[in-house]
Amino acid sequence: MAALEVEILTLFPRMCTGYLGESILGKAQEAGLVAVRVTDIREHAAGRHRVADDAPYGGGAGMVMKPEPLTEAIEAAVGRLPGARVLLTSPRGRRLDQALARELAGAGRLVIACGRYEGVDERVRAVVDEEVSVGDVVLTGGELAALCIVDAAARLVPGVLGNEQSAGQESFSGEGGLLEHPHYTRPPAYRGMEVPAVLLSGDHRRIERWRRREALRVTRERRPDLFARLRLSEEDLRLLGAGEDES
Ligand code: SAH
Repeated sequence: MAALEVEILTLFPRMCTGYLGESILGKAQEAGLVAVRVTDIREHAAGRHRVADDAPYGGGAGMVMKPEPLTEAIEAAVGRLPGARVLLTSPRGRRLDQALARELAGAGRLVIACGRYEGVDERVRAVVDEEVSVGDVVLTGGELAALCIVDAAARLVPGVLGNEQSAGQESFSGEGGLLEHPHYTRPPAYRGMEVPAVLLSGDHRRIERWRRREALRVTRERRPDLFARLRLSEEDLRLLGAGEDES
């Protein structure tokens, strides 16, 4: 059994399958580490036309997703994944961040419902555990949000990223909640911009100190809110005070 089992419920399955089949997520599924099923909500819509939306009570623009097809699609998915945490993508939801991604990766089983149009009939909430948002922005549908959730959770599953260190050292991970230091690869000089000499030195302790200092700096500069929550060590304070070459 895969460590992370997910079922995405959408009116537009192909929007999801393309993304899920490529690169790291594609390989993770081939390796059996992650299993993602994409189900068309319309399979649960009644009638020859399989209508899944209707005009809003009270009037107003747009269409609302009917409660029955999505509720029944969720119940069928939970039948396949007993104990799954049921998420509804929504701008009103809890904002996705690395802490929530870790929580969801740990949950092991997820059912993610994608809204479209003006949103979904409120009564679907009866079978939803939690609403999740990807940010204070309005998308045309929940598919990109569902893919963000699956992507962020899947890469935390042991074995999904080739190098187990990758997920441990990057932005927002670790206790510190720092943004990540800059990266460089070949060539050593590009358009007159040189890779910092310390990275070519082979001196791993100096490289570690440089990376820590750059991470602290970029966090202080771009995310003062994260920086304010850090508990800085003596060494961190020294690094922040140090000049380019002193680290
Ligand atoms: N009328 C709604 C927006 C509907 S957008 C409102 O004003 O809040 C249609 C669907 O896209 C939503 O039901 C939801 O599933 C998805 N969606 C839009 N923005 C999102 C976001 N920031 N995070 C997660 N899902 C979102």
